[in-house]
Amino acid sequence: MNNIRCKDHPDNQIIFITWNSTIVKFICDECMAIDLQEGDLLQKQCKKMAIKKAIKEPEYFFTQFSLDEKNKTFFSAFKKFPDVELMNIIEKTKQNIQYIQLILDSIMKELQSEINKLINNKDIVRKQLNKVSQYQEFKELIQSLNKKQKVTHDAVRQIEIQLEKIFLGIEKNSSDFNQEIKKAQEISKIDKVNDFLGIEQLRLQIEQFKQISAFFMPVQKPIVPEEYFQYLLNKISLGAKKQIKFTDIIFDQQKDNLNSINFWNCVKDKENLLMIFKSQSGNIFGAYTPIKWVYEDTEIMDHSCNSFLFSYTHKSIHQNNKGFHALNLQKYKGPCFGQKYLSIDFDLYIEGDFQKGYSNLGKAYTKESSQDSKTHLFGQETPNIIQCQIFQIIFK
Ligand SMILES: [Zn+2]
Repeated sequence: MNNIRCKDHPDNQIIFITWNSTIVKFICDECMAIDLQEGDLLQKQCKKMAIKKAIKEPEYFFTQFSLDEKNKTFFSAFKKFPDVELMNIIEKTKQNIQYIQLILDSIMKELQSEINKLINNKDIVRKQLNKVSQYQEFKELIQSLNKKQKVTHDAVRQIEIQLEKIFLGIEKNSSDFNQEIKKAQEISKIDKVNDFLGIEQLRLQIEQFKQISAFFMPVQKPIVPEEYFQYLLNKISLGAKKQIKFTDIIFDQQKDNLNSINFWNCVKDKENLLMIFKSQSGNIFGAYTPIKWVYEDTEIMDHSCNSFLFSYTHKSIHQNNKGFHALNLQKYKGPCFGQKYLSIDFDLYIEGDFQKGYSNLGKAYTKESSQDSKTHLFGQETPNIIQCQIFQIIFK
């Protein structure tokens, strides 16, 4: 666009194109400033396009026009990966890998020195063991036999007799013998291998690596809006009196993949899990408990009472009541919160197929009188879960 000059401002190059439903115009930055001042662009509902950018980036050109939803999504995904950001990621990844390499080298060195230490110690221990009197006598006898050029049967028998003395002596008085070995040990010990400092560094570095590469992974967003998710995290953090380091989505499955096997494979032996469910009716609800999900049939009390159920749909929180089991673990079932006692049912009970189950809210967990104990969470009488997400909360 070097040689095109603005007709109103001949000193200036043309930089933009503006247009509305009736006219398209080349303009310079001065025109633009005037238009903006007078509010012309807005009044005439003019759109504008930077020419250089439009020539360089086709996606910029296309997004200036009205696009249908599918194309909009396509271009917004395109925009998510700006060139600068991508270069930055390569740089970060490179640094990270170099750092991991350094850590691995230092672990290797640590290992080498630990092993050298062990070998040294073994040598020292051997030297000490050599000093045990019975062993010395044994060795001297064998050596004396070796030194002789010609060994008569008689001489061998003599040695045998002396060996008998040593061996049978040991057998008879093993406590003295053991005492001598212990004395030899005290002088030098075979240390256990120290914990490698590098291993912890490596773990942290790999964690960072995961965070960098997370950029390329499809973003798994919570079913609930970000603000509500943050609200839940704040609540969990306050209850635990600990800051949250990060959350890790460890499970995100739709109806077809929801069953007790997949569920247990994911939650087994994990703690501080936040679960979010969406039921057929569209209701969104969930549960949090700090308790560890051990794979056995058992009921567990949460003495902190930090376990809670929630309904995103109704914006309600249902805290675990003191004295009631928070969690009921059942190997072949889905998640189950609350306590079964005489005629009392669980507050939230999801069967292994994630479809059947029931809710009897307001027993082990709080409920307001206006809330229906059966349908408040599900929006219907059975869970019929169509999506389930599980987040692991990692505290600092
Ligand atoms: Zn101009």
